[in-house]
Amino acid sequence: MDTELERILEHTKYVSVLFAPNLGCNLQCVYCAAKPIAEMFQETDVKRYREVLWDTAERTASAIERFLDEYNTHIDFEMHGYEPLLADPELFKFFGEKFRRYAKEGKLELNMQTNATLVTEDIAKMLRKYGWKAGVSVDGPREVHNRNRPMPGEDSYQRTMNGVKILRKYKIGGEGIISVITKNHMHPTPKDGAQRYYRWLVDNEFKSANLHFVEYTKMFDNWEKIEPSISEYIEFFVEVYRQWAKDSSGVEIIPFTTIINSLITGEPQPSQCLMMDTHCFNIIEITWDGQILNCDRNSYTHNIKITEVNTLEDILKSKTSKETLERSKYLQNNDPACGACKYWKICHGGCTYSGMMRYFDLIAEGEKPKIKDPRLYRTKYCPIYRILFRIIEKDLRDLGYDLAI
Ligand code: SF4
Ligand code: SF4
Repeated sequence: MDTELERILEHTKYVSVLFAPNLGCNLQCVYCAAKPIAEMFQETDVKRYREVLWDTAERTASAIERFLDEYNTHIDFEMHGYEPLLADPELFKFFGEKFRRYAKEGKLELNMQTNATLVTEDIAKMLRKYGWKAGVSVDGPREVHNRNRPMPGEDSYQRTMNGVKILRKYKIGGEGIISVITKNHMHPTPKDGAQRYYRWLVDNEFKSANLHFVEYTKMFDNWEKIEPSISEYIEFFVEVYRQWAKDSSGVEIIPFTTIINSLITGEPQPSQCLMMDTHCFNIIEITWDGQILNCDRNSYTHNIKITEVNTLEDILKSKTSKETLERSKYLQNNDPACGACKYWKICHGGCTYSGMMRYFDLIAEGEKPKIKDPRLYRTKYCPIYRILFRIIEKDLRDLGYDLAI
């Protein structure tokens, strides 16, 4: 095996491939820049779009097959962005059939992230037939969700929860969610919002929730209506943690479960980079037109297109993948806070994209950032990470755990 690739693969037991089959969505989430799908199709030549999409899909499948045939690794293949169910439904069949063998061998999982508003019984049957699992994006109770994720002319929450019900009926998902936490969760206080969110999660029998920061920047006009302050975020997350820690419902909440595992093992948890560590190098996004990015957050763009790729290895060995690995070393050596941080080995400066958002915040505040590359900043949410690390560390030590930090 190529030593550079070995170095990259040794950081992870798996590679995540995000396939983004379209540019549009039927919701208008306050924190999303996607255009409604209708607008996209007014502007785009539909025939050309389909040709390019299918060419990209076939090349992506071949690159993954060649890679899995050669290496003993695991791929999480995820159809996502902006709403995958707006793309050609034949894609689910195509990838399902292509990857059936690897899925059976446990080398690949077929996942999709959906807002679930378009899920019907027929779609659920089709997804089940081809081996897909669905994670749902739902931000919390009706009033919060509908403010965050409006659906023009419809009750977005009702549509999503109907979809959740169908996905559960067919046992293909609807139990794990992603929630983006915004200013809308903070009413009347962050603590109240946290308690309401947690009750909702348990009452609706979700089994896991992945809480995301909104990842906004003060450069955007409406940022203060959307992004909570750091102190609001701290109050919210600490209260959700407190509720969760004393509850016995068994719901898994990321980041808390991943922080616990990291503190115990001293290792960052694979795939959980949003609130700790940096996994950009093994998260590959391929867009319908063949562009290749690290992650869906566009922090690093590969200088190759899918038309130039033979196997996934070509992407993992690219200059971009190596640059993403260098970021954490840079922060350890050059950012005094990270260099001296007790939690360095489980955090590595946090998400690259939220580091970029910190750079843009500094500009919006009238500062001249000293470092020119926005990717070389530690996460803007560092104070929240640190509080959570500290509180959870103390609780684990009080419970008698030996920790690896
Ligand atoms: S940009 Fe952030 S979320 Fe994306 S892979 Fe990198 S660390 Fe993870
Ligand atoms: S918690 Fe903050 S200071 Fe510590 S490693 Fe993470 S980003 Fe750096």
